[in-house]
Amino acid sequence: MNLVLLGPPGGGKGTQAKRLQDKYGLVQLSTGDMLRAAAASGSDVGKRAKAVMDAGQLVSDEIVIAIIDERLDQPDMASGAIFDGFPRTLAQAEALDAMMARKGKKLDFAIEIRVPDDYIVERITGRFTCGKCGAGYHEKFQQPKVAGQCDSCGATAFVRRPDDNVETVNKRLEAYHAQTAPLLPHYDKRGALKLVDGTMDIADVTRELEALLDSTR
Ligand code: AMP
Repeated sequence: MNLVLLGPPGGGKGTQAKRLQDKYGLVQLSTGDMLRAAAASGSDVGKRAKAVMDAGQLVSDEIVIAIIDERLDQPDMASGAIFDGFPRTLAQAEALDAMMARKGKKLDFAIEIRVPDDYIVERITGRFTCGKCGAGYHEKFQQPKVAGQCDSCGATAFVRRPDDNVETVNKRLEAYHAQTAPLLPHYDKRGALKLVDGTMDIADVTRELEALLDSTR
């Protein structure tokens, strides 16, 4: 099974993709994570991508399409992917359709995790991750069980993304509405779009997503 998670930045795509991947044997493909890894490596492409990400804008279609194209050829992709943060433009969606056809794969459906803009700033500015294992937390919605200590690996250092600040969040929301929201009709037209209310608790969103995935197996 291959599916796309759509929805605004901070809407829960990454959190939910992580929760679904083990249960369904799928691999989360987050272009944001891949670009942050490229930025951390200090490569030329990574440095250029970091400047764009820090400004809350979208990295070029050419770069993200090439990253995904290469990643899809790796052997762990056989059981399927959860695309998280890709595609983000119509050109990327069309490239994904062509790539999947060329590789003999099928995109089963896209799910919109719908969250209105006024929830997003609080969600994004409160989030942080474990510096060692990457487990995600939130000041208000998902504190570690023991204060200051990661539930998953016990590490005590946490990090925040440089683009998780109010000004950049507003730019990212603008990019979402202008460039990514038009993908909703792209998938809807072919009867491949499903909707989940992303304002619910994390566990309730997961339950709805699982029900959707189970109904299509
Ligand atoms: P995310 O982790 O999905 O919130 O992505 C963080 C940032 O990475 C975005 O604000 C963009 O600058 C960049 N990015 C991630 N995925 C894409 C994509 N598919 N196309 C263009 N830029 C992307």
